[in-house]
Amino acid sequence: MTTDTSNNTIDGFQLVIDALKLNDIDTIFGLPGIPITDLTRKMQANGMRMISFRHEQHAGNAAAAAGFITQKPGICLTVSAPGFLNGLTALSNATTNCFPMILISGSSEREVVDLQQGDYEEMDQLAIAKPLCKAAFRVLHAEDIGVGVARAIRSAVSGRPGGVYLDFPAKLFSQVMDEMEGQQSLIKVVDAAPRQLPAPESVQRALDLLKTAKKPLILLGKGAAYAQVDKDIQTFVEQSGIPYLPMSMAKGLLPDTHEQCASAARSFVLAEADVVVLIGARLNWLLSHGKGKTWGGANAASRKFIQIDIAPTEMDSNVPIAAPLVGDIGSCVQALSAGMDASFAKPPAEWITEVFARSSKNITKMAEKLKLNPSPMNFQSALNVIKNQIEARPDAYLVNEGANTLDFARSIVNMFEPRKRLDVGTWGIMGIGMGFAVAAAVVTGKPVIAVEGDSAFGFSGMEVETICRYNLPVCVVVFNNNGIYKGVDKNNNGSDDPAPTVFVKNARYEMMMQAFGGVGVVANTPAELEKALTEAVASGRPTLINAIIDETAGTESGRITSLNPTSGTVKK
Ligand code: ADP
Ligand code: MG
Repeated sequence: MTTDTSNNTIDGFQLVIDALKLNDIDTIFGLPGIPITDLTRKMQANGMRMISFRHEQHAGNAAAAAGFITQKPGICLTVSAPGFLNGLTALSNATTNCFPMILISGSSEREVVDLQQGDYEEMDQLAIAKPLCKAAFRVLHAEDIGVGVARAIRSAVSGRPGGVYLDFPAKLFSQVMDEMEGQQSLIKVVDAAPRQLPAPESVQRALDLLKTAKKPLILLGKGAAYAQVDKDIQTFVEQSGIPYLPMSMAKGLLPDTHEQCASAARSFVLAEADVVVLIGARLNWLLSHGKGKTWGGANAASRKFIQIDIAPTEMDSNVPIAAPLVGDIGSCVQALSAGMDASFAKPPAEWITEVFARSSKNITKMAEKLKLNPSPMNFQSALNVIKNQIEARPDAYLVNEGANTLDFARSIVNMFEPRKRLDVGTWGIMGIGMGFAVAAAVVTGKPVIAVEGDSAFGFSGMEVETICRYNLPVCVVVFNNNGIYKGVDKNNNGSDDPAPTVFVKNARYEMMMQAFGGVGVVANTPAELEKALTEAVASGRPTLINAIIDETAGTESGRITSLNPTSGTVKK
């Protein structure tokens, strides 16, 4: 084979950059060090946005959130061994949550690693990553960089999205090849996440079942939010007239104040519904596995599920799925809408009336609680301020983590736009806060409000420096109740050590933001919180509000106390 060759050469660094840019990847989240320091510099020099973090886990979480928001794989770039391992937690979490992300790590020389001769940061990274993500690849030769990047992108975004690991040994970067051959080796991925149409008979089966329903319910999950088919989902929901429940990251897909939203009657509709349409939501622990008391106990046997999901193997994972609808969410809901002809009646009026009555009763009850103004603030009175701010600025992102801070915020703060709520997701993981906040601000330029339990904030708190360095419009609100769950636990062995769940009392979290040039404010009352928050969102200046919450408020493990084994033998 004869190839035209030019006299110019191209190296591995440039091929990696060109391969990513060719696929419209313009932002990298990472942390420089051996062997990727020069890569980060060259990326920036080549016009890419290189966002440098203080710890790889947060760069990884940022990449994952960027993937969820944009449908493009978010890229996290790390050094070898420890940096790689720090990023791996985020990669694994992204995979669990079905967020597209690529972790690219530099690694040591294969020859030394494979003979276990003890290289600097020696580790067989590919083998370690493999079971923890959707796919993993290693590129050894410059001419394979294009294929490696293309395979990583396709693996991350096609089918059920997830995390991909891409291993680049140090030597790869300095390899050179003919420039023209190098450019020709790069691949622009065509149709990375092709539509997957549901089978017509599956659509018919689902419609036939839906027609029999007396108490139908739609459940929207974060897969439905990710799919970016907001109009199609709205059409299906409104045309069907069926009440719907959003999972936490699907809040805002339709405004939470929509008349068909059944969030305030959650327990009732889950226990009562006879046919449930799952759209991009899994029947995992967050939905009590589709059975048991939550689902009405005895009612569970007669309940039927229609499940829309791109992953065929998700079906029957917890309970039988009577009508599986495998395909992309847009195509599936379009097909359902198209099939709802004149013979398709709206749900019985008794069901709608009852759901609506329960909702409005609970909404009134909650409004009473939100109106109270206890001193110090409790979760409700502080969250009422956040609720009002999101109502005023529905374009703002809400990042949310903690135990009680998470549970209360999920039910109190209404969302009005899709994909604006970013939270602890499928694992209920702590530590996503600052990474998610940075990603939302960087990829959208919109204001971000990060509502953080004081414990949750601690996992990623050092990234406030990153927020200040890039001058991002992020306002962190730390719900400070002096500890994990609450701040009043006592040591039970008589020593001077504090109890394992309590922190330094009256910690000055706002000073952390001040340390790097941002705004730090203490808020003792809803009025103070409102003032500081409104200013922060309006100015876009990096801000941390230390919101002082009653240290006796909060319950152990928040809403999931039942998952916390207790022996009952620890004396308080
Ligand atoms: P939630 O926690 O909000 O219930 P999950 O993460 O449990 O949501 O479920 C999301 C589901 O959505 C996953 O089963 C995933 O396979 C599916 N999914 C993600 N993207 C798409 C898509 N574009 N089309 C169809 N299903 C999708
Ligand atoms: Mg779920």
